Amino acid sequence: MLTRFLIFISFVFTFSSIIAEDWTIDPERRSWVLSANHPSTDFPIQNLPYGVFKRKNSQETPRIGVAIGNQILDVKRCVQEGLLKNLPKETQLALMEPTLNAFMNLDKRQWKATRHSISGLLDESNPTIQDHQRLKRALLVDMRKADMLMPAEIGDYTDFYSSINHAQHIGKMFRPNNPLMPNYRHLPVGYHGRASSIVISGSDIRRPKGQVLAAGASAPQFQTSDKLDFELEVGVFIGKGTPLGEPIPIAEAKEHLFGIVLVNDWSARDIQKWEYQPLGPFNGKNFATSISPWVITFEALKPYKIPGPPRSHDDPEILAYLQPKDDAAYNIFLEVAISSEKMREQNEKSVVITRTNFSDMYWTFAQMLTHHTCGGCNFKAGDLIASGTVSGEKIDCLGCLVERGAFTKEPLRLPDGSRRKFLEDGDEITLRAFCKKPGYPRIGFGECCGVIKR
Ligand code: CA
Repeated sequence: MLTRFLIFISFVFTFSSIIAEDWTIDPERRSWVLSANHPSTDFPIQNLPYGVFKRKNSQETPRIGVAIGNQILDVKRCVQEGLLKNLPKETQLALMEPTLNAFMNLDKRQWKATRHSISGLLDESNPTIQDHQRLKRALLVDMRKADMLMPAEIGDYTDFYSSINHAQHIGKMFRPNNPLMPNYRHLPVGYHGRASSIVISGSDIRRPKGQVLAAGASAPQFQTSDKLDFELEVGVFIGKGTPLGEPIPIAEAKEHLFGIVLVNDWSARDIQKWEYQPLGPFNGKNFATSISPWVITFEALKPYKIPGPPRSHDDPEILAYLQPKDDAAYNIFLEVAISSEKMREQNEKSVVITRTNFSDMYWTFAQMLTHHTCGGCNFKAGDLIASGTVSGEKIDCLGCLVERGAFTKEPLRLPDGSRRKFLEDGDEITLRAFCKKPGYPRIGFGECCGVIKR
């Protein structure tokens, strides 16, 4: 009898190792929220990203939610209804907050337990909510009837420069024979950005004013930027904070990474060009940065990990403190779409101008965080690190407009007949991302969009 039991146990563990390890990503699972089972949804039950929302036209306080199909599960209400009482009190309190900061500051085991509980509640086999009309009405909110808010209070924001393709294309425009700076392959280059002007997707972007040195001019003018650009980036929210003076070793960096969002680092190239030397970007960047509202967790991304990051045989050896132990790249498909005001008036769909992938970034978020803290710089839960513009090798894979200069002098042509070297007033930029893999559901990120206003 005992032998038969042991054989049964080993059978279960051998043939369902993924499920035993983390059943929340099991591709076979379905939700009783039917829209979550549609192949084109961004939010199947295997995804379950966190966000902060408020029911439209209501006076309710902002609350944490989880995306499922075209619905949002009201997590605060789940706690109030006692549906998450298996979680420690500390976790339940964090889930009642109007931002994700307190939850981000918990440790990985608590994130995991929460994900497992929520995933269980949404599973098609679980009757708790699905067979209970009052609960269902109280806990599920149609995404069209919710306003998405900033997922966290962002204390600090740092932007890196981790796409080697992007660095090479930009470098080539200034130094055709030697595009990469000597430090590029040794450390993740970054600058301290501005947290106060990070806005949620859907917020209008006001064209900034600043100092611009016109071509051939000997003195600058104060004017409205006419070289406004987008930058397609991926950002990571920092989870558990660290004290000042304590570097995060590379082996522990992943423990501090909570989840990722899309980032549009809007950039005024004419202001940037005049101001950036010798200390780097300033007003050309700090007028606005947009982020997508749903924070995709690394648990959901696990099936889409691939070997990486790519290194070529003649790359220098990375210093020991930055050498990854079991790090990997993430196979995330990214795209940028644009629509002009005229296109929208004519009911024309936006046009995708860029398709690229996050997997060929030269530095990982773990390396960026370890390098950032190597001198003792501290982090707080909810701080944001962005990857830098993500670009592929070719002209249709570029993460910003200015980079086209490395390939052509021809402006981009839009379906309404207009041309773009830089963005015009009324232009809407939409960033999208998703992961896919045979045998697994598509995991989407939602959108990060913004319209340029004067
Ligand atoms: Ca940037």
